[in-house]
Amino acid sequence: MPELRKDPVTGRWVIISTDRQKRPNDFRFERAAIIARELCPFCPGREAMTPPEILAYRQNGSAPNTPGWELRVVPNKFPALQVEGTLDREGDGMFDRMNGIGAHEVIIETPDHDRTLSMMSEAEIERVLWAYRERMLDLKQDHRLRYILVFKNHGAAAGATLDHPHSQLIALPIVPDFVREEIEGARLHYRVKERCVFCDIIHQDMRDGRRVIQENAEMIALSPYAPRFAFETWVLPKQHGARFEEAPRHVYEALARMLKAILQRLDRALERPPFNLIVHTSPFSEEVADEYHWHIELMPKLTRVAGFEWGTGFYINPTPPEEAARVLRAVRF
Ligand SMILES: [Zn+2]
Ligand SMILES: [Zn+2]
Ligand SMILES: [Zn+2]
Repeated sequence: MPELRKDPVTGRWVIISTDRQKRPNDFRFERAAIIARELCPFCPGREAMTPPEILAYRQNGSAPNTPGWELRVVPNKFPALQVEGTLDREGDGMFDRMNGIGAHEVIIETPDHDRTLSMMSEAEIERVLWAYRERMLDLKQDHRLRYILVFKNHGAAAGATLDHPHSQLIALPIVPDFVREEIEGARLHYRVKERCVFCDIIHQDMRDGRRVIQENAEMIALSPYAPRFAFETWVLPKQHGARFEEAPRHVYEALARMLKAILQRLDRALERPPFNLIVHTSPFSEEVADEYHWHIELMPKLTRVAGFEWGTGFYINPTPPEEAARVLRAVRF
């Protein structure tokens, strides 16, 4: 059973993964190449190589765990957290721990091994977003859980070990630090101004224009004012909403269109960079309807996070966001 432990100084929770315990020798393999296509467990025909599916979109009435699917959600074979068991929050002297209860799922976005998100049609991307939503709504019913983290690592440099297009979902019994920080900041802004800080950013950047990459009726993509990474891009709904999974249907359609366009811009401007995509949404356990505003953060992996960043928690970004937005706006399709 994995375990969650809280650092007594900073209050930061970490997952101690007892099931995946590694000896010093094992770390060498971490640098090994991406798993070959011939062995890809996400390709059609190899359904038996993954745990049984939790959800699948099939149009041809094919049986579960057989080929014929368009999208498949399966439990992660090497989960960071596990579903069965009780939380057992407990103290050990001054230390706090709890069992690593949660869910760790993989969303296999397409049967086509080589079809990256930016190559997919808008309808296919929308289907991926719809799967995120469906899994979130289902997992929300588990009252031991407080947050669902949906993310995608694309490319080995971004942490992917499989080329086959997929996203991951981790349901956690705690709220991750980055969400906690954003919510605290958003609450402070709301308390002073009675306005959502993200709505304020959208309005100011729309008036200013320098950091806007692209807009449609529902969504806006921008280079944030103080990005940690070169070409970091945020995609936000223009209409205020605190929860990704509660957005109206036409918003997913607009988001799919926007994501495709932005990924294509990044591909052309930066020669198909590896990237991380993270959905930032509200914890289920908290009422933050007016203060928090869901969004997607896209981080191309262009530079290595080095000792300076890890040591100081202070990021050095070589590309001003106004310049990043200008470059991405200028991409012609
Ligand atoms: Zn594959
Ligand atoms: Zn807002
Ligand atoms: Zn965010």
